[in-house]
Amino acid sequence: MAEAVDREPTKVPADPIQPDLPPEQIPTKEGDSDGLILHFDSERFLVFYNCRITWCSSPFSEPACDILCPEFDKERALRALSVPRPVCITLMDQRHFSGVGNIIKNEVLFLANVHPLSFGSHLPPESLQSILDHTIRFTCNWLNNKLQRKGLRYHIYMKECCDKGHKVVKESIGPPYGLKRLTWYCPECQPHVKSENAVPSKEDP
Ligand SMILES: [Zn+2]
Repeated sequence: MAEAVDREPTKVPADPIQPDLPPEQIPTKEGDSDGLILHFDSERFLVFYNCRITWCSSPFSEPACDILCPEFDKERALRALSVPRPVCITLMDQRHFSGVGNIIKNEVLFLANVHPLSFGSHLPPESLQSILDHTIRFTCNWLNNKLQRKGLRYHIYMKECCDKGHKVVKESIGPPYGLKRLTWYCPECQPHVKSENAVPSKEDP
């Protein structure tokens, strides 16, 4: 499985989908030997720039867990989000949110005004619903823009300040013993909801 890493932008085009160029003509960063090209039928291919390749177990992805599938099960996704676990880790869990990557995670949590380390079980249902809605919307926009070769404006990913001018925090966050991913968030716009100030939900005892 190819795992994208968060590096500062390079002069290499960020768009991984370049159907008009054969692989040997794809521009690469000078001295950069890593990368992955997947070839498909009809001479189509997908290029991952700035990636590293590691073997890891990957659960089978069902259509019900794939954000972009019509069969995506929103109720199941909400249940997954509502567990006592940091939402930024649940969002990256491909068993529940297949297709969500690190950029989408960062942007969605900012748009939903949710701190990445807030536990889903401490958040009100409206916040969980907001995360889900933004995830679907952002992912669809992401795909549509990629297909049209358009860029997508980021609100928080790799930013120094948020849209309101607050200083953004960058932190490496991941599951215990798992891969840590760089996470950008605004402590002002995304307050950390902890147990003592959690909004009770119907599921709480
Ligand atoms: Zn802010």
